[in-house]
Amino acid sequence: MTTQFVYSFSEGSKELKDLLGGKGANLAEMMRIGIPVPPGFTITTEACKEFLALGVAPLELEIQITKALRELEDEMQKRLGDKKDPLLVSVRSGAKFSMPGMMETILNVGLNDESVQGLIKQTKNPRFAWDAYRRLIQMYGKTVLGIEGQKFANELDKAKKDQGVVDDHQLSVESLSKLVETFKNIVFQESGKNFPQDPREQMDQSMRAVFNSWNTDRAKLYRRRERIADDLGTAVNIGTMVFGNMGEDSGTGVCFTRDPATGELGAYGDYLQNAQGEDVVSGIRNTLSLEDLGRLHPDVFSELRGIMYNLETHYRDLCDIEFTIERGKLWILQTRVGKRTASAAFRIAMQLVDEHIITMDEALVRVNGGQLAQLMFPQFDMRNAPKAITKGMAASPGAAVGKAVFDSETATTWAENGERVILLRRETNPDDLGGMIAAVGILTSRGGKTSHAAVVARGMGKVAVCGAEELEVNENEKFAKVGSLRINEGDYISIDGSTGEVFNVEIPVEPSTIVRYLTDGIADASEGKEDGTRELIRSVDRLLRHADRRRKLRVRANADTDLDAAVARKFGAEGIGLCRTEHMFLGERRVLIERVILAKNNEHREEALAALLPLQREDFFNIFKEMDGHTTTIRLLDPPLHEFLPNLADLKVKSALARERNQVIEADERLLYEVEKMYESNPMLGLRGVRLGLVSPGLYELQVRAIAEAMADRIASGANPKVEIMIPLVGSHMELKITRLAAEEVIQEVARERKIELPIEIGTMIELPRAALTANRIGLVADFFSFGTNDLTQTTWGFSRDDVEAEFFAKYLELGVFTISPFETIDQSGVGELLIIATERGKSVNPNLHFGVCGEHGGDPESIHFFHKVGLDYVSCSPFRVPIARLEAGRAAVS
Ligand code: ADP
Ligand code: MG
Ligand code: MG
Repeated sequence: MTTQFVYSFSEGSKELKDLLGGKGANLAEMMRIGIPVPPGFTITTEACKEFLALGVAPLELEIQITKALRELEDEMQKRLGDKKDPLLVSVRSGAKFSMPGMMETILNVGLNDESVQGLIKQTKNPRFAWDAYRRLIQMYGKTVLGIEGQKFANELDKAKKDQGVVDDHQLSVESLSKLVETFKNIVFQESGKNFPQDPREQMDQSMRAVFNSWNTDRAKLYRRRERIADDLGTAVNIGTMVFGNMGEDSGTGVCFTRDPATGELGAYGDYLQNAQGEDVVSGIRNTLSLEDLGRLHPDVFSELRGIMYNLETHYRDLCDIEFTIERGKLWILQTRVGKRTASAAFRIAMQLVDEHIITMDEALVRVNGGQLAQLMFPQFDMRNAPKAITKGMAASPGAAVGKAVFDSETATTWAENGERVILLRRETNPDDLGGMIAAVGILTSRGGKTSHAAVVARGMGKVAVCGAEELEVNENEKFAKVGSLRINEGDYISIDGSTGEVFNVEIPVEPSTIVRYLTDGIADASEGKEDGTRELIRSVDRLLRHADRRRKLRVRANADTDLDAAVARKFGAEGIGLCRTEHMFLGERRVLIERVILAKNNEHREEALAALLPLQREDFFNIFKEMDGHTTTIRLLDPPLHEFLPNLADLKVKSALARERNQVIEADERLLYEVEKMYESNPMLGLRGVRLGLVSPGLYELQVRAIAEAMADRIASGANPKVEIMIPLVGSHMELKITRLAAEEVIQEVARERKIELPIEIGTMIELPRAALTANRIGLVADFFSFGTNDLTQTTWGFSRDDVEAEFFAKYLELGVFTISPFETIDQSGVGELLIIATERGKSVNPNLHFGVCGEHGGDPESIHFFHKVGLDYVSCSPFRVPIARLEAGRAAVS
């Protein structure tokens, strides 16, 4: 059987996007449901793949095109390019996902020196016919032959000047026919060939050009950035031309079934009379609104309204539509589910539920965590804001305002003086790290979402706009330009990392209403707000609550203090999945831990530890208070001890100076000696975590005692504390077993003293590959596993995040080693596999084990879907990401 490479519009459907591309599948779908679409056919993505593999069109394809064309000609009762009454077609690219870099559409294919005369006779409209012909040569020259578009545009301008008119459509027949000759000359001069007079050759060459455009650099780059597979190929759509440029009773337009910016109900769009194709969006003339169209052509307008309604109920979503009116007859040329802003997404999803078009489950799938995150960042108050001066990639979300600086040093010094700065660079590299840390935002003119600037900014949670290509950055002379507009060092700029917009003024930033809603509830957040905002808040609330009803994953927060814990509760956290204890040894308490480390004998050490006990107990007491009734998982001390001591280099300098002055201080020397002794060349892999617990007598016991006593105190005051102790960096079950026994002893001691029961679960973090692999042993001595996916990623890849992210991740992403940083989204095939192994092996020996994730991946949408699939019990993430995790866990459960 031969492959079917060509589908008539009347054969396909919207389900066939892989084969027909988005545009082709939707054209077929519209035809199927009786919407007026000009007839045509689609050449499949399979044909494209064959063509790209062979370098020529397969014979079978040529034959099928001939047949399809013949059928189209019979239906239209015209022959392609016929000299008496020509059929004209458009050749349009259309991949599964719409993407820049693909070839632009060629209209009016089939016109030549003879058929243009036929068109004149048939339409009795020579102005129109010559205009169509000059457009064909212009588009063909530019897109198929790669001739610089400006060459044609200049001649067009000249013709208008010569004739003394402003707009294209005012050009006379004579000017237009002269322009055709000029354009043909340009084609000959620039390509060395005549503009093809054979209509079929025009069509075939256009099709080939579409296929080849799949592999342009721009398309490839875009696919890599957006993680679109390279082997999908593009389809080509050949459709009968309809003409919006036949006079004042014709025109072309675009419309949306709801406002894609705000989600407001109603029809939105633009219409341009006597125009063709992209004229309406090109800004060549002022467009009319849909209301104006309604006044001009009431019948056509009401038909369009009907179609908009049909399409929306059929696609069950906001649709984006292209239409053309030819002498009072309406034609629909494209539709797709329209892109929208984050707030529009939430509002539209709930409107559709209320209109009984979709279910709550479907509504949940229509929004996502990334959009919710956008709504949770502070936003620019756009009420009096000017237009953006340019736009780049929205690389790391949020709104940032500051003074422009062009180098890392200035960024650092200005920031030290209390200035807020935005670092402007062509692109960044590891040398810019200091400046990136000092800046409140980063703006680059090159690179995309995976560039160095973007990767590092996201890692730091800093606002970034990347690849704003219109921006020329002159780093040496410290200024930038957008066209003729100049930005000097010290000028205010504002960048929006959620939309990619750049402004050359200071725009006020306002706190997010959605955060207000999350912390203070609907009533407070809605007060005094306009209707749209109130609808948005209600929509977010309903969707979040629905996600809560659906999700299987519990959501906890990573919180180290009672303040964090309180925020986490407000955002909906159902416990603390990771309470780190390091901070409890810092600040004023540093001296106490220093005394523990430097203790000369056990007695001194115990004394020093005893001084820490009440302080730690109070910390835990307060956290348990915030989390009453919900679990708190406390991780015992993890980092190497020398992190609590002064810096080695500083101590050395101090000691050397003291020696010179002959004023050696005994205590300083001892400190230096101890710090030197503890020096590690690879602290990440050194004496830390459980290892530290095992070799520093009394340290973990102190922490466990503080936890147990705090719990006892809470119980005594009638509360309901739920506590888990988590042992970090375990690689062997023996490490956990010994630590566990020691901890249980302390807990029992406290329980006896207080005469109450202290049901504390003891588990471990899984953050070493060996722990995952030996989970069948570790599982025997653990009550739970919590995957520390940050460290597990570091230890699985052998990466030190602080080093690799700034050093070479951008290069790795560019090379395609990975498509997203494994620190942003869990590496499913490596780290994820370890996770699966550990859960399976753990469960096989201990069916009561429960499983969670406490790395940053716990707040990452894609990773959450993976954790849901693996069947973990909960994720834990930073308090701010808790609502996002709730939403995504709900989405994972329904999709
Ligand atoms: P894009 O992928 O950029 O949306 P399109 O293929 O939709 O490009 O085409 C570009 C322009 O040409 C659009 O305005 C579209 O409506 C118009 N167009 C495409 N095919 C036809 C046709 N057969 N008749 C009239 N206009 C057409
Ligand atoms: Mg289009
Ligand atoms: Mg760790």
